[in-house]
Amino acid sequence: MIVLFIVATTTTLGAFAAHRQWQLQQDLEQRFERTRAEVSDGLRQSLAAPAWALNVDILRTTLEATLIHPEVTGACIYAPDGHDVYAEVHRSATHASACTVTGSHDVLSDVTIYPPDEIDADRRAQPIGKAIIRFTRDNMRQAQRKAMVQGITEVAAIDVVLVLLLTFGLRMVFGPLEHLRTALFRLASSQGDRLDELARLGRTEFDSVIDGFNRVLRRLQATQAELVEKNRQLEAVSKTDQLTGVFNRRHLDEVLNSALTFSRHDGMPFSIILLDVDRFKSVNDTYGHQVGDRVLVEIARCILEVKRVTDTVGRWGGEEFLLICADTDLDDAVRFAETLRDAVAARVFSVTGQMTASLGVACVQQSDTIHGMISRADQALYRSKERGRNRVEYAPRRSDESCDTGGELSDPVFD
Ligand code: GH3
Ligand code: MG
Ligand code: MG
Repeated sequence: MIVLFIVATTTTLGAFAAHRQWQLQQDLEQRFERTRAEVSDGLRQSLAAPAWALNVDILRTTLEATLIHPEVTGACIYAPDGHDVYAEVHRSATHASACTVTGSHDVLSDVTIYPPDEIDADRRAQPIGKAIIRFTRDNMRQAQRKAMVQGITEVAAIDVVLVLLLTFGLRMVFGPLEHLRTALFRLASSQGDRLDELARLGRTEFDSVIDGFNRVLRRLQATQAELVEKNRQLEAVSKTDQLTGVFNRRHLDEVLNSALTFSRHDGMPFSIILLDVDRFKSVNDTYGHQVGDRVLVEIARCILEVKRVTDTVGRWGGEEFLLICADTDLDDAVRFAETLRDAVAARVFSVTGQMTASLGVACVQQSDTIHGMISRADQALYRSKERGRNRVEYAPRRSDESCDTGGELSDPVFD
C-alpha cells in the first residue's frame, strides 16, 4: 500500500518535472535563436563601412563586441573569394577558429557584407566580404543539466519526506488502531468466537475496529442479560430455604424489619404467626430423617396453599415456620392462624398420615421491636404446647395485658 502510493507519487512528480524540463528546453532554444538573429543582424549593420575601408582594427573590435554574448565562441571576416582572412576573434584558445568548420555542437551563422549605403547602386550589390559567427549551445545545455539535477533532487526529497511521513505517521495512527482491533477481537472472542473469523470481518483497519466495537457491544449486551438472569437466580437462592422452597431466616429478618418500619411510618398494623409441628421428633425417630424432611416440605406446601397474597412465609428454623401478615390486626391474624391449623390437621401426610401444628400469634404494638414481637409469638406458641398442642394462642394487646397469660381462640376479643 505504502509502496504503491510512493510509486504513484514519484511517477506524478517525475512527469511534472519532465514537463518542466521540456518547457525550459523550449525557452532556452528560443532565446538561443533570438540571440543568434540579433548578433547576426547587429554584425551585418556594423561591418559594411570598416570592411569597405578594410580597417582591420575596427573589424576586430566589431567582432570582439559579439563575444559579450556567452553563446558566441568566435567570429571571423574574410574576403569574398574566401582566400584572405581580414579579422578573427576567439573566446579562448581552446575554441575552434570561426573560419574552420569544425565542432559538432556548434552552430555557424554567416553574414554577407555589402558596401556602405553612400556607394553607388551598381557596386552596392557586390559583396565585399563574409563574416562567420560561431555559436555554442554549451551554456544552454549547462542550464538544462542544472534544471534536471534540481528536478531530480526535488522529487527525491519529496519521496523521502513522504516515506518518512507514511512510515512513521501512519504507524503512529494505525499501530494503536491495530492494537485496539486485536484487543477488541480478543475481548469479543473470549466467549467462543474464533479470532480468524473475526479478523476476516476487517476490510480496512477502521472497519475492523468498528466491527470489533460492535462485537464487543453485542457480547456485553448478551453478558449483561446473562448477568441480570444470574443475579436474579442468586438473589432467589439467597432468600430461599433449600429444603422447603419457602423463604429462609435471613429474608424473614429483612421483611420483618421493613414491615416494622412501614408500620411505624403509616400506622398500619401487621402480625406474625409462629407455627411449630407437633411431636416432630417422633417422626424422625419412627420413620427416619428423610421422612421428617418430607413432612417439612409438605407442611410448607400446605401453608403456601392457604396463605394470602400479602403474607410472607419462611422457615424460622428446624420444624418452625413464620408467617408475616401485612395489614393484619390481631383478630384477623388469629382467625387466619386457625385456618392454617385446620389445614395442617386436615391434611393426610404421605407417610405419617395425620399431623398437627401449634401456633403462636403476635401483633405489632407501639414502640415495638422485632425481638419483642418474636418473643411474644414464641411465648404464645409455648402456651399452645402447654395447653395440649394443635392450638392457636396469641400474645395479648397492651390493653389486654391484665390477662397476663395471653389468650386463646375462645378469648372474648374475637367475639
Ligand atoms: P413439640 O411438639 O414439643 O414441638 O415436640 P417436637 O418433637 O416437635 O419438638 P422437639 O424440639 O423436641 O424436636 C424437634 C426435632 O426436629 C428435633 C430435630 O432433630 C428435628 N429437626 C430439626 N430440623 C430438622 C430438619 O431439617 N429435618 C428433620 N428431618 N428433622 C429436623
Ligand atoms: Mg420446635
Ligand atoms: Mg415441634
